[in-house]
Amino acid sequence: MVLDLKEFKRFEKQIILKKVGISGQKKIKRAKVLIIGMGGLGCPLLTYLASSGVNNIGIVDHDKIELGNLNRQILFSTSDLGKYKVNQAKVKIKKIYNQVKIKTLKIKITKKNIKAILKGYDIVCDGTDNFNTRLLINDYCKKNKKTLISAAINKFDGHLFKFNFKKKIPCFRCFMPQQPIQEMNCDVEGIFPPVAGILGSLQANEVLKTILDLKDDLNGNILIFDSLKMNIRKSKIQINPNCKNICKN
Ligand SMILES: [Zn+2]
Repeated sequence: MVLDLKEFKRFEKQIILKKVGISGQKKIKRAKVLIIGMGGLGCPLLTYLASSGVNNIGIVDHDKIELGNLNRQILFSTSDLGKYKVNQAKVKIKKIYNQVKIKTLKIKITKKNIKAILKGYDIVCDGTDNFNTRLLINDYCKKNKKTLISAAINKFDGHLFKFNFKKKIPCFRCFMPQQPIQEMNCDVEGIFPPVAGILGSLQANEVLKTILDLKDDLNGNILIFDSLKMNIRKSKIQINPNCKNICKN
């Protein structure tokens, strides 16, 4: 794979970084990333990945754009109301960088279809607001040794997880084996718009670091961002002995 002159110019500000370089940019171009959920997290995540030169991106979401999405789902405009999120996201990204191949999937992930949707991707990004879907994605990625980069947002806080399942590490189920009484769901709880942007951008940061094989400090950890206290802390997730079928085998 080669980079042409236009690509070199487009990405020169990242190529001049020693940790990226031309070989890193080729890795970015080759990477295949799946984004599940084209909401407040998916919008900035997709934008940064496409702008950075990730050429193969799948986006999954079965929702249409509603007025109440527009405070944080920054790829969408008033004129997009009622249209499918994945279709409009693709239209906007193509305007930013036409070369990116985007596969759109208007579908809800289930036990039956998860393999067909996830199998072609090395890195899976979860930004869904549904606990059962999170567990389903976690279990598939763990069993198939994919890298899972998840984010969740609620009110003024955000959580970020990274699991490179090629290594022996805990999983999301170890951290949260059962549905919390209060689900992290911005539809019910509310969300401060920039928190979505910050967490989606942090997710993009981890995706690019994974592609480039850069230092992997977040692997097996949770990062907690508190936008009121302006606090970021990281803590290690422990393998849960009750995570029987998934982590203990
Ligand atoms: Zn586990």
